[in-house]
Amino acid sequence: MTIPPGSTIGIVGGVQHGRMLAMAAAQLGYRCHIYAPDPNCVAAEVAARFTEGAFDDEGALTRFAAEIDVATYEFENIATAPLAAVAELVPLYPPVEALATAQDRLEEKQFIQRHGGRPAPFAAVDDPAGLDAALAAIGTPAILKTRRFGYDGKGQVRIEAAGEGAAAWDAVRGAPCVLEGLVRFDAEFSILLCRNAEGETAIWPSPRNRHDGGILVASSVPGGPGLAAAIAEGEALARRVADALDYVGVLAMEFFATADGAIFNEMAPRVHNSGHWTIEGALTSQFENHVRAICRLPLGATDLRAPRVEMANLVGDESESWREILADPAAHLHLYGKGEARPGRKMGHVTRLLD
Ligand code: AMP
Repeated sequence: MTIPPGSTIGIVGGVQHGRMLAMAAAQLGYRCHIYAPDPNCVAAEVAARFTEGAFDDEGALTRFAAEIDVATYEFENIATAPLAAVAELVPLYPPVEALATAQDRLEEKQFIQRHGGRPAPFAAVDDPAGLDAALAAIGTPAILKTRRFGYDGKGQVRIEAAGEGAAAWDAVRGAPCVLEGLVRFDAEFSILLCRNAEGETAIWPSPRNRHDGGILVASSVPGGPGLAAAIAEGEALARRVADALDYVGVLAMEFFATADGAIFNEMAPRVHNSGHWTIEGALTSQFENHVRAICRLPLGATDLRAPRVEMANLVGDESESWREILADPAAHLHLYGKGEARPGRKMGHVTRLLD
């Protein structure tokens, strides 16, 4: 059943993705109700209602659910049990199963393998002896990643030589991990897919992504002819994964393009930083199509609005160059309204439509 304009969309999480979702929802006549622990969160500033609450407070989340017509979430590090309680009361998309899979790097990689995808070589690591065994099996260089609660390169340690295992184990403070072999890639790209409850899918042209220190720096579309085969492989996997999860909403999957094809890195069951360019660069943005999907409306077209689109993140004090950016007629500036421009903090982004 359609959730018509005028209804209230509940968004769990209050940072920039929630802010941009609420702005897209408002354009279609929906009201948004943000649930987040931070009363000064930047999503609440642009939403009709705000509830302050902890992500694991099931009582508060179920009271929130009583006031909304449909629920979604804007980031991954949320306990799944309270969200499942919300899903008992109102439709909640993307499905909790997708979130549970994406929250655990080990389960995620095993899930992807079951659906025919290829992650980097990996091994589960639960203790120092397990790390030695994993290093012996995978070799170096490798990356030790915590299974849960990692983002923007946090919870990751690079290991150049087997003797560095003990220091890496200390750095992750003994949290359950996976060890991954370092992938020699030609480029990184992401697949951005939106699926609605009827099983219709929309896929945007795939961006080539550049990271620095684990943080996305820039995305450019089209990804380039050299990536076509790897992108086709990634798209096919994303469609299989979305169908298997009976997925509703935007799903992002990150890949390495290698001489051997597309190597899966990770997936995010939500709108994604590498899709921010779609706001001005595509006929329908990832935020609008996410709203359309969760409200059971038909999806919009994903074609490019310009031959080339470039998105650059404004990280830390880069956001202070807003004056120069505004002077560029090709540039669309987005500032998230966050307070202090700390190093590594995503403060905004700029999208340029180019010939
Ligand atoms: P992640 O948070 O796991 O997506 O990692 C952030 C970034 O670190 C990736 O986008 C890559 O640039 C780099 N990275 C992570 N894992 C690997 C790997 N196994 N091989 C090569 N580069 C990696």
